[in-house]
Amino acid sequence: MSVGRRLRADGSSPLDAHETVRIDRSDSVERYRFVCPNGHTDWDKTNNHIWCRSCRQQAENGDDVHPEHWEIVDKKTDEEIPWSAVEISADRGAWSAQSP
Ligand SMILES: [Zn+2]
Repeated sequence: MSVGRRLRADGSSPLDAHETVRIDRSDSVERYRFVCPNGHTDWDKTNNHIWCRSCRQQAENGDDVHPEHWEIVDKKTDEEIPWSAVEISADRGAWSAQSP
C-alpha cells in the first residue's frame, strides 16, 4: 500500500506542536484578541519568547510580574498559544512604512 497518509498532529497528545497562528497586528481586531497572559496587547515576539511592554512597566513599578512570556492568550477561545506557534504577519506595517 502506498497511501500518502500524512500523520498530522490532531491535538490529542500534549506533545503535539501547536498549529501555527498567524496574527496580523495591523488589524485592530486581531491586535486586541491576542494578549499576553496578563491581558496586555503591546507584546512582541522575540527570538525566544514573548516580551510585553506593559508587564515590563508594571515590573518597574514594583509589581511581581515578568515581561517575558512563553505563550500568549487568544481571548476569543481562551486558548494559550505557545511562543513557537505564534507568527506575526504584517509586522512592518504602518509603524515603519518609511523604512528603506
Ligand atoms: Zn503583559
